[in-house]
Amino acid sequence: MGMTAKDTGLTREGFMRWFGLGGKRRHGGGDGQRASSSTEGAGAEDPRDRRRRQTLEDISRFLLAHGLPVSTFTLDVAHDIVTGANPALAQLVAERVNSRDQITSDWLEDVIEAQNRENGVEQLHALVHRLESSVAAFSSTATAARTATKDYNTALKAHVGGLGAIGNDDVIAELTRLARDMISRTRDIERELSRSEKETRTLQKSLVDARREAEMDHLTGLPNRRAFEAVLRAEFAATRDSGEPLCVAFCDIDNFKRVNDAHGHEAGDRILRAVALSLAGISNDKCHVARHGGEEFVVLLRGKSTTEAWNILDDARERLAARKFVNRATDRPFGRISFSAGIADVHAYGDPREALRVADEALYRAKSAGRNCVLTADQSVADLEAARAA
Ligand code: GH3
Ligand code: MG
Ligand code: MG
Repeated sequence: MGMTAKDTGLTREGFMRWFGLGGKRRHGGGDGQRASSSTEGAGAEDPRDRRRRQTLEDISRFLLAHGLPVSTFTLDVAHDIVTGANPALAQLVAERVNSRDQITSDWLEDVIEAQNRENGVEQLHALVHRLESSVAAFSSTATAARTATKDYNTALKAHVGGLGAIGNDDVIAELTRLARDMISRTRDIERELSRSEKETRTLQKSLVDARREAEMDHLTGLPNRRAFEAVLRAEFAATRDSGEPLCVAFCDIDNFKRVNDAHGHEAGDRILRAVALSLAGISNDKCHVARHGGEEFVVLLRGKSTTEAWNILDDARERLAARKFVNRATDRPFGRISFSAGIADVHAYGDPREALRVADEALYRAKSAGRNCVLTADQSVADLEAARAA
Protein backbone atom coordinates (compact mmCIF):
# COMPACT_ATOMS: atom_id res chain seq x y z
CA MET A 1 0.00 0.00 0.00
CA GLY A 2 3.09 2.16 0.39
CA MET A 3 1.65 4.03 3.40
CA THR A 4 3.40 4.78 6.61
CA ALA A 5 1.91 4.65 10.06
CA LYS A 6 1.95 8.44 10.05
CA ASP A 7 -0.11 8.58 6.84
CA THR A 8 -2.84 6.57 8.46
CA GLY A 9 -2.72 8.64 11.62
CA LEU A 10 -1.96 5.58 13.73
CA THR A 11 1.48 5.84 15.22
CA ARG A 12 3.20 2.77 16.55
CA GLU A 13 3.04 4.23 20.03
CA GLY A 14 -0.64 5.02 19.69
CA PHE A 15 -1.30 1.57 18.40
CA MET A 16 0.34 -0.07 21.38
CA ARG A 17 -1.42 2.24 23.84
CA TRP A 18 -4.69 1.41 22.19
CA PHE A 19 -4.22 -2.14 23.39
CA GLY A 20 -3.15 -0.89 26.80
CA LEU A 21 0.41 -1.88 26.01
CA GLY A 22 3.69 -0.03 26.01
CA GLY A 23 2.31 3.43 26.81
CA LYS A 24 3.51 3.61 30.40
CA ARG A 25 6.91 2.20 29.58
CA ARG A 26 7.76 5.20 27.51
CA HIS A 27 8.78 7.54 30.35
CA GLY A 28 12.45 6.91 29.56
CA GLY A 29 12.07 8.75 26.23
CA GLY A 30 14.00 7.49 23.21
CA ASP A 31 12.60 6.75 19.75
CA GLY A 32 9.31 5.03 19.01
CA GLN A 33 10.98 1.79 18.04
CA ARG A 34 12.68 1.41 21.41
CA ALA A 35 9.76 2.74 23.36
CA SER A 36 7.37 0.10 22.09
CA SER A 37 9.81 -2.74 22.47
CA SER A 38 8.70 -5.33 24.99
CA THR A 39 12.30 -5.83 26.04
CA GLU A 40 13.05 -2.16 26.56
CA GLY A 41 16.20 -1.63 28.45
CA ALA A 42 17.23 -5.23 27.97
CA GLY A 43 18.77 -4.73 24.51
CA ALA A 44 17.46 -5.81 21.08
CA GLU A 45 13.83 -6.75 20.56
CA ASP A 46 12.94 -10.40 20.07
CA PRO A 47 12.65 -10.90 16.27
CA ARG A 48 9.35 -12.77 16.78
CA ASP A 49 7.89 -9.80 18.64
CA ARG A 50 9.11 -7.50 15.91
CA ARG A 51 7.46 -9.61 13.24
CA ARG A 52 4.22 -9.79 15.19
CA ARG A 53 4.15 -6.04 15.69
CA GLN A 54 4.95 -5.46 12.03
CA THR A 55 2.01 -7.70 11.07
CA LEU A 56 -0.32 -5.83 13.40
CA GLU A 57 0.86 -2.52 11.98
CA ASP A 58 0.34 -3.72 8.42
CA ILE A 59 -3.16 -4.91 9.30
CA SER A 60 -4.10 -1.60 10.90
CA ARG A 61 -2.63 0.36 8.00
CA PHE A 62 -4.64 -1.72 5.53
CA LEU A 63 -7.91 -1.23 7.43
CA LEU A 64 -7.34 2.50 7.92
CA ALA A 65 -6.17 3.15 4.36
CA HIS A 66 -9.40 1.66 3.00
CA GLY A 67 -11.70 3.00 5.71
CA LEU A 68 -12.70 -0.54 6.68
CA PRO A 69 -14.38 -1.29 10.00
CA VAL A 70 -12.49 -3.29 12.60
CA SER A 71 -14.33 -6.59 12.80
CA THR A 72 -13.39 -10.26 13.09
CA PHE A 73 -13.99 -10.55 9.35
CA THR A 74 -11.89 -7.56 8.25
CA LEU A 75 -9.08 -8.43 10.68
CA ASP A 76 -9.01 -11.96 9.37
CA VAL A 77 -9.01 -10.82 5.75
CA ALA A 78 -6.40 -8.11 6.37
CA HIS A 79 -4.21 -10.66 8.11
CA ASP A 80 -4.36 -13.02 5.12
CA ILE A 81 -3.55 -10.15 2.76
CA VAL A 82 -0.60 -8.67 4.61
CA THR A 83 0.99 -11.98 5.58
CA GLY A 84 0.64 -13.47 2.10
CA ALA A 85 -1.55 -16.29 3.46
CA ASN A 86 -4.00 -15.59 0.62
CA PRO A 87 -1.92 -14.43 -2.38
CA ALA A 88 -4.88 -14.61 -4.78
CA LEU A 89 -6.84 -12.20 -2.59
CA ALA A 90 -3.79 -9.92 -2.22
CA GLN A 91 -3.53 -9.84 -6.02
CA LEU A 92 -7.23 -8.96 -6.43
CA VAL A 93 -6.88 -6.20 -3.85
CA ALA A 94 -3.81 -4.81 -5.64
CA GLU A 95 -5.70 -4.83 -8.97
CA ARG A 96 -8.67 -3.08 -7.40
CA VAL A 97 -6.41 -0.47 -5.81
CA ASN A 98 -4.75 0.09 -9.20
CA SER A 99 -8.08 0.56 -10.91
CA ARG A 100 -9.00 3.02 -8.12
CA ASP A 101 -12.10 1.07 -7.12
CA GLN A 102 -12.96 1.13 -3.46
CA ILE A 103 -12.16 -1.82 -1.20
CA THR A 104 -15.32 -2.33 0.82
CA SER A 105 -16.42 -5.01 3.26
CA ASP A 106 -19.11 -6.10 0.77
CA TRP A 107 -16.57 -6.49 -1.99
CA LEU A 108 -14.23 -8.47 0.29
CA GLU A 109 -17.14 -10.71 1.34
CA ASP A 110 -18.03 -11.39 -2.32
CA VAL A 111 -14.42 -12.24 -3.17
CA ILE A 112 -13.97 -14.53 -0.15
CA GLU A 113 -17.26 -16.27 -0.86
CA ALA A 114 -16.25 -16.86 -4.48
CA GLN A 115 -12.85 -18.17 -3.34
CA ASN A 116 -14.48 -20.54 -0.83
CA ARG A 117 -16.86 -21.80 -3.49
CA GLU A 118 -13.98 -22.32 -5.91
CA ASN A 119 -11.92 -24.15 -3.24
CA GLY A 120 -14.89 -26.34 -2.36
CA VAL A 121 -15.40 -27.29 -5.98
CA GLU A 122 -11.65 -27.88 -6.37
CA GLN A 123 -11.63 -30.27 -3.41
CA LEU A 124 -14.75 -32.03 -4.62
CA HIS A 125 -13.14 -32.57 -8.00
CA ALA A 126 -10.00 -34.02 -6.47
CA LEU A 127 -12.15 -36.32 -4.31
CA VAL A 128 -14.34 -37.42 -7.20
CA HIS A 129 -11.24 -38.10 -9.25
CA ARG A 130 -9.67 -40.25 -6.51
CA LEU A 131 -12.93 -42.09 -5.91
CA GLU A 132 -13.32 -42.76 -9.60
CA SER A 133 -9.85 -44.32 -9.79
CA SER A 134 -10.36 -46.52 -6.72
CA VAL A 135 -13.83 -47.57 -7.80
CA ALA A 136 -12.53 -48.48 -11.25
CA ALA A 137 -9.66 -50.45 -9.71
CA PHE A 138 -12.01 -52.22 -7.30
CA SER A 139 -14.43 -52.99 -10.07
CA SER A 140 -11.81 -54.76 -12.17
CA THR A 141 -10.45 -56.62 -9.12
CA ALA A 142 -13.96 -57.79 -8.22
CA THR A 143 -14.62 -58.93 -11.78
CA ALA A 144 -11.31 -60.80 -11.96
CA ALA A 145 -11.91 -62.43 -8.56
CA ARG A 146 -15.40 -63.50 -9.53
CA THR A 147 -14.20 -65.05 -12.79
CA ALA A 148 -11.40 -66.89 -10.94
CA THR A 149 -13.80 -68.15 -8.26
CA LYS A 150 -16.25 -69.33 -10.89
CA ASP A 151 -13.52 -71.19 -12.82
CA TYR A 152 -12.25 -72.75 -9.60
CA ASN A 153 -15.76 -73.83 -8.65
CA THR A 154 -16.36 -75.45 -12.05
CA ALA A 155 -13.01 -77.32 -11.88
CA LEU A 156 -13.71 -78.48 -8.33
CA LYS A 157 -17.16 -79.77 -9.31
CA ALA A 158 -15.63 -81.84 -12.10
CA HIS A 159 -13.17 -83.43 -9.64
CA VAL A 160 -15.85 -84.21 -7.07
CA GLY A 161 -17.64 -86.26 -9.71
CA GLY A 162 -14.36 -88.14 -10.34
CA LEU A 163 -13.74 -88.74 -6.61
CA GLY A 164 -17.13 -90.36 -6.15
CA ALA A 165 -16.36 -92.80 -8.97
CA ILE A 166 -13.12 -94.03 -7.35
CA GLY A 167 -14.78 -95.86 -4.43
CA ASN A 168 -16.21 -95.61 -0.99
CA ASP A 169 -13.02 -95.34 1.00
CA ASP A 170 -13.16 -93.08 4.17
CA VAL A 171 -10.43 -90.74 2.89
CA ILE A 172 -12.24 -90.29 -0.41
CA ALA A 173 -15.51 -89.64 1.45
CA GLU A 174 -13.83 -87.00 3.60
CA LEU A 175 -12.23 -85.39 0.55
CA THR A 176 -15.59 -85.31 -1.21
CA ARG A 177 -17.19 -83.67 1.82
CA LEU A 178 -14.44 -81.05 1.98
CA ALA A 179 -14.70 -80.35 -1.72
CA ARG A 180 -18.49 -79.98 -1.54
CA ASP A 181 -18.06 -77.59 1.35
CA MET A 182 -15.58 -75.63 -0.75
CA ILE A 183 -17.99 -75.53 -3.69
CA SER A 184 -20.72 -74.10 -1.54
CA ARG A 185 -18.39 -71.48 -0.06
CA THR A 186 -17.02 -70.39 -3.42
CA ARG A 187 -20.61 -70.10 -4.69
CA ASP A 188 -21.34 -67.71 -1.79
CA ILE A 189 -18.22 -65.71 -2.58
CA GLU A 190 -19.23 -65.54 -6.22
CA ARG A 191 -22.67 -64.19 -5.25
CA GLU A 192 -21.06 -61.63 -2.90
CA LEU A 193 -18.70 -60.45 -5.61
CA SER A 194 -21.50 -60.15 -8.09
CA ARG A 195 -23.38 -57.91 -5.64
CA SER A 196 -20.24 -55.80 -5.09
CA GLU A 197 -19.87 -55.38 -8.82
CA LYS A 198 -23.43 -54.09 -9.09
CA GLU A 199 -22.81 -51.69 -6.21
CA THR A 200 -19.66 -50.34 -7.82
CA ARG A 201 -21.53 -49.74 -11.05
CA THR A 202 -24.13 -47.69 -9.11
CA LEU A 203 -21.34 -45.83 -7.34
CA GLN A 204 -19.63 -45.10 -10.64
CA LYS A 205 -22.86 -43.61 -11.96
CA SER A 206 -23.24 -41.47 -8.82
CA LEU A 207 -19.70 -40.19 -9.31
CA VAL A 208 -20.46 -39.20 -12.89
CA ASP A 209 -23.56 -37.35 -11.61
CA ALA A 210 -21.49 -35.65 -8.86
CA ARG A 211 -18.97 -34.49 -11.44
CA ARG A 212 -21.74 -33.08 -13.62
CA GLU A 213 -23.20 -31.36 -10.56
CA ALA A 214 -19.82 -29.78 -9.73
CA GLU A 215 -19.56 -28.38 -13.25
CA MET A 216 -22.97 -26.78 -13.22
CA ASP A 217 -23.94 -23.32 -12.07
CA HIS A 218 -26.85 -23.79 -9.71
CA LEU A 219 -28.51 -20.44 -10.19
CA THR A 220 -28.81 -20.59 -13.97
CA GLY A 221 -28.37 -24.28 -14.74
CA LEU A 222 -25.65 -23.35 -17.24
CA PRO A 223 -22.20 -24.95 -17.16
CA ASN A 224 -19.91 -23.03 -14.81
CA ARG A 225 -16.54 -21.45 -15.47
CA ARG A 226 -14.65 -24.65 -14.65
CA ALA A 227 -16.65 -26.65 -17.16
CA PHE A 228 -16.20 -23.88 -19.71
CA GLU A 229 -12.44 -23.80 -19.27
CA ALA A 230 -12.26 -27.53 -19.92
CA VAL A 231 -14.35 -27.13 -23.11
CA LEU A 232 -12.22 -24.17 -24.18
CA ARG A 233 -9.02 -26.21 -23.84
CA ALA A 234 -10.55 -29.17 -25.71
CA GLU A 235 -12.03 -27.04 -28.50
CA PHE A 236 -8.81 -25.07 -28.83
CA ALA A 237 -6.81 -28.28 -29.38
CA ALA A 238 -9.43 -29.80 -31.70
CA THR A 239 -9.84 -26.71 -33.92
CA ARG A 240 -6.09 -26.12 -34.06
CA ASP A 241 -5.81 -29.59 -35.59
CA SER A 242 -8.84 -29.25 -37.87
CA GLY A 243 -8.13 -25.65 -38.93
CA GLU A 244 -11.67 -24.52 -38.04
CA PRO A 245 -12.11 -21.02 -36.61
CA LEU A 246 -12.92 -20.64 -32.93
CA CYS A 247 -14.26 -17.49 -31.29
CA VAL A 248 -14.80 -16.62 -27.69
CA ALA A 249 -17.15 -13.94 -26.40
CA PHE A 250 -17.45 -12.31 -22.99
CA CYS A 251 -20.95 -11.00 -22.22
CA ASP A 252 -21.73 -8.83 -19.21
CA ILE A 253 -25.18 -7.61 -18.18
CA ASP A 254 -25.43 -3.82 -18.37
CA ASN A 255 -25.93 -1.86 -15.16
CA PHE A 256 -26.92 -4.97 -13.32
CA LYS A 257 -26.14 -3.42 -9.98
CA ARG A 258 -29.07 -1.05 -10.59
CA VAL A 259 -31.41 -4.03 -10.96
CA ASN A 260 -30.32 -5.35 -7.57
CA ASP A 261 -30.46 -1.91 -6.01
CA ALA A 262 -33.92 -1.12 -7.33
CA HIS A 263 -35.58 -4.55 -7.08
CA GLY A 264 -33.54 -6.55 -4.59
CA HIS A 265 -31.17 -9.47 -4.95
CA GLU A 266 -33.84 -12.12 -5.50
CA ALA A 267 -35.35 -10.23 -8.41
CA GLY A 268 -31.75 -9.77 -9.66
CA ASP A 269 -31.36 -13.55 -9.54
CA ARG A 270 -34.49 -14.00 -11.64
CA ILE A 271 -33.14 -11.57 -14.24
CA LEU A 272 -29.84 -13.46 -14.23
CA ARG A 273 -31.72 -16.68 -14.94
CA ALA A 274 -33.72 -15.05 -17.71
CA VAL A 275 -30.57 -13.69 -19.40
CA ALA A 276 -28.92 -17.10 -19.02
CA LEU A 277 -31.91 -18.77 -20.64
CA SER A 278 -31.91 -16.23 -23.44
CA LEU A 279 -28.20 -16.81 -24.13
CA ALA A 280 -28.65 -20.57 -23.84
CA GLY A 281 -30.94 -20.18 -26.86
CA ILE A 282 -27.91 -19.77 -29.12
CA SER A 283 -26.10 -22.82 -27.74
CA ASN A 284 -25.74 -26.05 -29.70
CA ASP A 285 -23.03 -28.67 -30.18
CA LYS A 286 -20.76 -25.98 -31.70
CA CYS A 287 -21.71 -23.12 -29.43
CA HIS A 288 -21.11 -23.41 -25.70
CA VAL A 289 -22.62 -20.92 -23.29
CA ALA A 290 -21.52 -20.80 -19.64
CA ARG A 291 -21.79 -18.55 -16.62
CA HIS A 292 -18.33 -17.21 -16.00
CA GLY A 293 -19.28 -15.73 -12.64
CA GLY A 294 -21.44 -12.90 -11.29
CA GLU A 295 -23.39 -11.37 -14.16
CA GLU A 296 -20.85 -12.44 -16.79
CA PHE A 297 -21.31 -15.14 -19.37
CA VAL A 298 -18.91 -16.68 -21.87
CA VAL A 299 -19.70 -18.11 -25.29
CA LEU A 300 -17.44 -20.33 -27.35
CA LEU A 301 -18.30 -20.60 -31.04
CA ARG A 302 -16.68 -23.26 -33.15
CA GLY A 303 -16.57 -23.01 -36.96
CA LYS A 304 -17.63 -19.34 -37.00
CA SER A 305 -15.57 -16.37 -38.15
CA THR A 306 -15.53 -13.31 -35.89
CA THR A 307 -18.06 -11.63 -38.21
CA GLU A 308 -20.42 -14.62 -37.99
CA ALA A 309 -19.92 -14.77 -34.22
CA TRP A 310 -20.65 -11.04 -34.04
CA ASN A 311 -23.94 -11.57 -35.96
CA ILE A 312 -25.03 -14.38 -33.63
CA LEU A 313 -24.26 -12.42 -30.48
CA ASP A 314 -25.65 -9.16 -31.74
CA ASP A 315 -28.93 -10.92 -32.61
CA ALA A 316 -29.04 -12.36 -29.09
CA ARG A 317 -28.30 -8.91 -27.66
CA GLU A 318 -31.07 -7.31 -29.74
CA ARG A 319 -33.63 -9.99 -28.81
CA LEU A 320 -32.91 -9.57 -25.11
CA ALA A 321 -32.94 -5.77 -25.21
CA ALA A 322 -36.32 -5.83 -26.97
CA ARG A 323 -37.97 -7.86 -24.19
CA LYS A 324 -39.99 -6.22 -21.49
CA PHE A 325 -39.29 -7.67 -18.08
CA VAL A 326 -41.66 -6.98 -15.22
CA ASN A 327 -40.94 -7.78 -11.58
CA ARG A 328 -43.66 -10.31 -10.82
CA ALA A 329 -43.43 -9.60 -7.09
CA THR A 330 -44.15 -5.88 -7.45
CA ASP A 331 -45.48 -5.52 -11.01
CA ARG A 332 -42.84 -2.86 -11.58
CA PRO A 333 -41.05 -2.99 -14.94
CA PHE A 334 -37.32 -3.66 -14.80
CA GLY A 335 -36.63 -1.31 -17.69
CA ARG A 336 -34.38 -2.44 -20.52
CA ILE A 337 -32.26 -5.46 -19.72
CA SER A 338 -29.27 -5.72 -22.02
CA PHE A 339 -25.75 -7.02 -22.18
CA SER A 340 -22.55 -5.87 -23.82
CA ALA A 341 -20.07 -8.29 -25.33
CA GLY A 342 -16.51 -8.53 -26.63
CA ILE A 343 -15.40 -11.18 -29.12
CA ALA A 344 -11.93 -12.55 -29.91
CA ASP A 345 -10.67 -15.03 -32.48
CA VAL A 346 -9.01 -17.64 -30.24
CA HIS A 347 -6.44 -18.77 -32.82
CA ALA A 348 -5.21 -15.23 -33.38
CA TYR A 349 -3.59 -15.57 -29.93
CA GLY A 350 -1.25 -18.34 -28.88
CA ASP A 351 -3.19 -19.16 -25.80
CA PRO A 352 -6.95 -19.38 -25.11
CA ARG A 353 -6.49 -17.40 -21.90
CA GLU A 354 -4.97 -14.54 -23.84
CA ALA A 355 -7.97 -14.66 -26.22
CA LEU A 356 -10.28 -14.42 -23.19
CA ARG A 357 -8.35 -11.41 -21.97
CA VAL A 358 -8.64 -9.72 -25.37
CA ALA A 359 -12.38 -10.50 -25.53
CA ASP A 360 -12.69 -8.93 -22.07
CA GLU A 361 -10.89 -5.82 -23.35
CA ALA A 362 -13.31 -5.59 -26.28
CA LEU A 363 -16.17 -5.93 -23.77
CA TYR A 364 -14.71 -3.07 -21.78
CA ARG A 365 -14.67 -0.92 -24.93
CA ALA A 366 -18.28 -1.92 -25.64
CA LYS A 367 -19.17 -0.71 -22.14
CA SER A 368 -17.34 2.58 -22.69
CA ALA A 369 -19.17 2.98 -25.98
CA GLY A 370 -22.46 3.21 -24.10
CA ARG A 371 -23.31 -0.49 -23.42
CA ASN A 372 -25.92 -2.70 -25.15
CA CYS A 373 -23.49 -3.42 -27.99
CA VAL A 374 -21.07 -6.09 -29.22
CA LEU A 375 -17.51 -5.41 -30.37
CA THR A 376 -14.91 -7.74 -31.83
CA ALA A 377 -11.29 -7.41 -30.71
CA ASP A 378 -10.26 -5.61 -33.89
CA GLN A 379 -13.35 -3.45 -34.17
CA SER A 380 -13.42 0.12 -32.94
CA VAL A 381 -16.52 1.92 -31.77
CA ALA A 382 -16.30 4.04 -34.94
CA ASP A 383 -16.32 0.83 -37.06
CA LEU A 384 -19.42 -0.31 -35.23
CA GLU A 385 -21.20 3.00 -35.79
CA ALA A 386 -20.24 2.99 -39.47
CA ALA A 387 -21.55 -0.58 -39.81
CA ARG A 388 -24.81 0.41 -38.11
CA ALA A 389 -25.23 3.46 -40.31
CA ALA A 390 -24.65 1.46 -43.50
P1 GH3 B 1 -21.71 -2.59 -16.04
O1 GH3 B 1 -22.71 -2.21 -17.06
O2 GH3 B 1 -20.51 -1.71 -16.06
O3 GH3 B 1 -21.35 -4.03 -16.13
O4 GH3 B 1 -22.40 -2.32 -14.63
P2 GH3 B 1 -22.85 -3.40 -13.55
O5 GH3 B 1 -23.67 -2.70 -12.55
O6 GH3 B 1 -23.49 -4.57 -14.23
O7 GH3 B 1 -21.45 -3.91 -13.04
P3 GH3 B 1 -20.84 -4.10 -11.61
O8 GH3 B 1 -19.65 -4.99 -11.82
O9 GH3 B 1 -20.62 -2.79 -10.95
O10 GH3 B 1 -21.94 -4.86 -10.79
C1 GH3 B 1 -22.24 -6.19 -11.01
C2 GH3 B 1 -23.26 -6.56 -9.99
O11 GH3 B 1 -23.73 -7.88 -10.20
C3 GH3 B 1 -22.72 -6.50 -8.58
C4 GH3 B 1 -23.15 -7.80 -7.95
O12 GH3 B 1 -23.76 -7.58 -6.72
C5 GH3 B 1 -24.15 -8.36 -8.94
N1 GH3 B 1 -24.16 -9.81 -8.94
C6 GH3 B 1 -23.14 -10.64 -9.19
N2 GH3 B 1 -23.53 -11.92 -9.07
C7 GH3 B 1 -24.87 -11.89 -8.73
C8 GH3 B 1 -25.83 -12.91 -8.44
O13 GH3 B 1 -25.57 -14.10 -8.49
N3 GH3 B 1 -27.09 -12.49 -8.15
C9 GH3 B 1 -27.43 -11.16 -8.09
N4 GH3 B 1 -28.68 -10.84 -7.81
N5 GH3 B 1 -26.51 -10.19 -8.32
C10 GH3 B 1 -25.26 -10.55 -8.64
MG1 MG C 1 -19.38 -7.57 -14.47
MG1 MG D 1 -22.35 -5.71 -15.57
